[in-house]
Amino acid sequence: MKEIENERQMIQEAALKTAQRAIQPRAAEIDASGEFPRDLMEAIEKQGFLSILLPEEYGGMNGDITAFCLLIEEIAKVCGSSSLLLLAQGVGTLPIWLGGNDSQKERYFTQISEKNSLISFTLNETEIGSETPSIKTTAQKEKKDYLLNGRKCFITHGSIAHLYAAFALTEPKKGNEGVSAFVVERETPGLLFGRKEEKLGMRGVVTTDVIFENCRIPEENRLGEEGDGWRIAMESLTMARPAMGAQAVGIAQGALDYSIHYANERIQFKRPISSFQAIQFIIADMATQVEAARALVYQAAAHVDGRLEGAEKLSTMAKLYASDVAMKVTTDAVQILGGYGYMRDYPVERMMRDAKVTQILEGSNQVQRLVVAHHLFKD
Ligand SMILES: Cc1cc2nc3c(=O)[nH]c(=O)nc-3n(C[C@H](O)[C@H](O)[C@H](O)COP(=O)(O)OP(=O)(O)OC[C@H]3O[C@@H](n4cnc5c(N)ncnc54)[C@H](O)[C@@H]3O)c2cc1C
Repeated sequence: MKEIENERQMIQEAALKTAQRAIQPRAAEIDASGEFPRDLMEAIEKQGFLSILLPEEYGGMNGDITAFCLLIEEIAKVCGSSSLLLLAQGVGTLPIWLGGNDSQKERYFTQISEKNSLISFTLNETEIGSETPSIKTTAQKEKKDYLLNGRKCFITHGSIAHLYAAFALTEPKKGNEGVSAFVVERETPGLLFGRKEEKLGMRGVVTTDVIFENCRIPEENRLGEEGDGWRIAMESLTMARPAMGAQAVGIAQGALDYSIHYANERIQFKRPISSFQAIQFIIADMATQVEAARALVYQAAAHVDGRLEGAEKLSTMAKLYASDVAMKVTTDAVQILGGYGYMRDYPVERMMRDAKVTQILEGSNQVQRLVVAHHLFKD
């Protein structure tokens, strides 16, 4: 146990250093240009963060979900785009972690750790969004191959990934039970991309559609058995949700820290605005909400790591609560800064825009509430 805690602490310290030295100075510019931060990749790759969840035997950092959350939270405090980059990478590796056989793990995990290959979690489609059971992409068996056809929508790293953990119907009549999971490699003919989306926030990550047009992949690229895809996708999302919550906590903490700093500096009526009780109360509420969200996130992460009962419910609550807190706290931060909060010269409006997607990604918060309610009423 001590060893695990030491490893987590080392990951958190490395994340903090990378965030402060390399990422924070670039965060505003990444947002303004909307460009993928290729120059930061070297710092991120050097620390091995793209392989955070991969086992050591494949060159990974052997991080558990708690360590993943610590990493994501530290980076999110300074730059939402950079934390989403790492979050999407971790989520992308989970289907192989959960459904891959030894030779698939050897092949893909080693590729990720040695070449720093990006991987996308490729589930969402134009028509299905929250209604994920109605997946339309098909994978038709042809002798020892599958032919993939369909269009995946809003995929993080879409056009720049090297690998795609993709979900498609092998038996359309069976619904969820007919979904299978695959790894699609970048060079595969028939793998195409939509335009780069222009987004409100998280502007430094690349989001595009991923299109399969008679995309032929060998049987060896299927993860698990035919029909295992839905379980793999849902388990991946359950495992990743605490990290989604950690991202929200990080963004909220960044906005809170800046608000405190600003409130101490800004003079109105001949005194710092931090001396006004109205401002103190807003900040006290912000801090309380961030701490409550953090506690729920790490409680959920501990349940996932310990494979404890209730992990899915807690993970969903953590993502739901932390992302609502992030939206509230970043909006309050803009209020604390007054007109300056609304200006691009200050970081809090970026944090507010970045926070918004945490309520939508990996399942909207309405859908998260449905999942929590399902757990509460199923008995
Ligand atoms: C920046 C970004 C990056 C993304 N990256 C990825 C990625 O890497 N991989 C991936 O697979 N997907 C990705 N997504 C997709 C994301 O997971 C979906 O956008 C999300 O699940 C919501 O689906 P939708 O956009 O189709 O909304 P819709 O499903 O159309 O929902 C619209 C509204 O209706 C509400 N709603 C829908 N159904 C119900 C219901 N039953 N009850 C109550 N309310 C409901 C929703 O909460 C929402 O408010 C990304 C999205 C964004 C914005």
